[in-house]
Amino acid sequence: MRVLITGAAGFIGSHLCERFLNEGHEVIGLDNFITGRPENIAHLFENPNFTFIRYDVTNFLYVEGKVDLVLHFACPASPVDYMNHPIHTMKVNSVGTLNTLGLAKEKGSRYVFASSSEVYGNPEVHPQPETYWGKVNPIGPRSVYDEAKRFSEALTMAYHRQHGLDVRIVRIFNTYGPRMRRDDGRVIPTFIIQALRGEDLTVHGDGTQTRSFCYVDDLVEGIYRVAVTEGLEGEVFNLGNPEEHTILDLAKMVIEITKSSSGIKFVERRKDDPDRRKPDITKAKKLLGWEPKVNLREGLERTVEWFRRTLRGGP
Ligand code: UDP
Repeated sequence: MRVLITGAAGFIGSHLCERFLNEGHEVIGLDNFITGRPENIAHLFENPNFTFIRYDVTNFLYVEGKVDLVLHFACPASPVDYMNHPIHTMKVNSVGTLNTLGLAKEKGSRYVFASSSEVYGNPEVHPQPETYWGKVNPIGPRSVYDEAKRFSEALTMAYHRQHGLDVRIVRIFNTYGPRMRRDDGRVIPTFIIQALRGEDLTVHGDGTQTRSFCYVDDLVEGIYRVAVTEGLEGEVFNLGNPEEHTILDLAKMVIEITKSSSGIKFVERRKDDPDRRKPDITKAKKLLGWEPKVNLREGLERTVEWFRRTLRGGP
């Protein structure tokens, strides 16, 4: 297949490029480096099946030749990043989604949209199945991301219904692993870096809020299956690890794994921070035969190892 991946230099995008190349496909990667980084894909440049184009997909998009599959993964994804780039976050999930859907229609490509567990907002249903409609504050600080992802989902389904486009939506829950930016503000890189530097870990609120963390290799396997499995037109899938932890437990686990002397500092909680989040992955298990294999401790050990190496200046 000839595959177009937007957000190719991002955390998940770069792992996806690698996966599709390893499966023998040709990959065209796009990124404007707002939050993605060239070093995430530098090792792919010598692969003759990989083409990279520095491009902002909120501009008109055209690609020569056939395109079998479009994966729209461009978007600042950490709360700190999307609150720093609120308008761009909304543009890439509206104009960017429109442009990539338009390209998929023109080329007759299959289309996969990277949505988010944020479409469920601060959920009243736990765990969250795909059939839950969510509870989102439309004007809160997170709305630039939540509402834009919801708009993109609606637009994706409109192309499916009006033009018969073969679309699939993945709702990605908290994911972590190598290639996250040290300063992206998300909880796992923040805690690991604080622990490795011997600084106190900044737990927001009392740390009783929960998240369910998925190791990136597991997530990429799920996305790959959504992209290549036949007969999933118009389907939406939760992809994440249902192993749920409080943020305070996560902090303690990071301190233990890094053998750090750091303590824990309780700081102010972010506005509209969801209290609980855990995917119901029954549908993905049934239709994709997929479930995560890496538990939090094992994934954190691998991730800590990677951050240690990069702090020493390694690849
Ligand atoms: N969090 C924290 N300390 C930090 C960063 C985040 O306690 O330094 C908390 C945050 O308030 C939230 C959870 O960790 O409850 C996950 O935050 P993250 O930014 O990783 O992503 P979110 O799941 O909120 O999109």
